[in-house]
Amino acid sequence: MKNPLDRRRFLASAAAGAGAAVVTSTARGEEAAPALLGGPPVRREPFPSWPRSGRLEEEGLLGVLRSGKWFRGGGDRVDHFETSFAAMTGAAHCVAVANGTSALVTSLAALGIGPGDEVIVPVYTFIATVNAVLLHYAMPVFVDTDPETFQIDARKVEAAITDRTAAIMPVHLGGNVADMDAILEIGRRRKIPVVEDACQAHLAEWRGKKVGTMGAAGCFSFQVSKNLSSGEGGAILTGDADLAGRCYAFQNNNRGRAAEGYTFSYQGGRGANLRLTEFQGSLLLAQMTRLEEQSRTREQNARYLTGLLEEIPGIRPARQYEGCTRNAYHLYMFRFKADLFGGLSRDRFLQALQAEGIPCSGGYAPLNKDGSVSAAIASKGFGRIYPRELLDGFAARNACPANDALCGEAVWFTQNMLLGPRADMDQIAAAVRKVRANVGALAKA
Ligand SMILES: *Cc1c(COP(=O)(O)O)cnc(C)c1O
Repeated sequence: MKNPLDRRRFLASAAAGAGAAVVTSTARGEEAAPALLGGPPVRREPFPSWPRSGRLEEEGLLGVLRSGKWFRGGGDRVDHFETSFAAMTGAAHCVAVANGTSALVTSLAALGIGPGDEVIVPVYTFIATVNAVLLHYAMPVFVDTDPETFQIDARKVEAAITDRTAAIMPVHLGGNVADMDAILEIGRRRKIPVVEDACQAHLAEWRGKKVGTMGAAGCFSFQVSKNLSSGEGGAILTGDADLAGRCYAFQNNNRGRAAEGYTFSYQGGRGANLRLTEFQGSLLLAQMTRLEEQSRTREQNARYLTGLLEEIPGIRPARQYEGCTRNAYHLYMFRFKADLFGGLSRDRFLQALQAEGIPCSGGYAPLNKDGSVSAAIASKGFGRIYPRELLDGFAARNACPANDALCGEAVWFTQNMLLGPRADMDQIAAAVRKVRANVGALAKA
């Protein structure tokens, strides 16, 4: 079957038809007792560690240390990183900042977004995406998730636009790519800037273009878990020299740098110190030498793993849109269908898989119902800015039923698990099959 969806449907119906018989299948020693119930685990070794470093990092860091020029502007490591990252992604401009959250905050500031504005965000994302909006006293407007891809559902973006919408902020979640054809088209037609949150998607591509280079601005994180890391760090890509100048000024306490053609005129008249240090710049330059190869390994392993997991009824690996030509696989994500797994709960599945030596998590909880978001909406500042009806209607307006369901089904593996040999993928799939072969005992115990 050429279409993987058809094959999944076929397997799903085969499983439903076979009923309990299918879950007692025994293959390749997977009939052993589940590790959660005292049997031997499928895997005992740890997965590849993260972050990785070597001589390049050590020499770079010592060089900065001994130079005494630890700060941006003193040495040239951050400048060099900006030039290199722009070249690597094909962006005209890159502005480094302290972290990914700062990249988002700075981009929104440079676009002049503030109190009273609305910013469209996916509901399935890390909370920093939304915090960047809230920090500007702008109103986040959540759009439901496409459960097939785990990305913002582009078909639902237009309905969320009002005359107050000041930006659309898709997130390339897990290194997969949001439907940029649809989102850019809406942005162009409605004259609303698109800010890409590419914090999880270094080197991912849409129709051959690197993510972060398609919207007005693209934001990256180099926090330690990310595919390119300096412990903490961030960057903004943009094709707009003027916007780059405003971003530079904002992260430098509203002071530009005339020598580089960056103006002093950030019109909002505010700023902060969100500068990256030379230590981080040197780490990034070293880490970048490995990024391409690591990305290729992740992609090869992930594709192979998808082939294995698609054969297992009840496991639905995240799909990519047809325009996604490269997935950065910051996360390996799939849906767990309890009804095709003998009724085993998702959380019990996670426990059982962890016990087999396969680290995994259930991913995000629904952000539209997050206590910290509702506290911000209920705060004094928001009360002064927004009409009462808008604040009271927040929960109803931002209902995201598809995402609620997805949050109960999602399973994640982290990117470092994709950096080892292909045999690791075989073990992951074997562990999933073993849990499935034992659902009866697992559900009872
Ligand atoms: C990591 C992340 C951020 C924030 O980056 P930090 O460097 O941790 O501030 C923002 N958005 C998404 C989607 C992220 O994964």
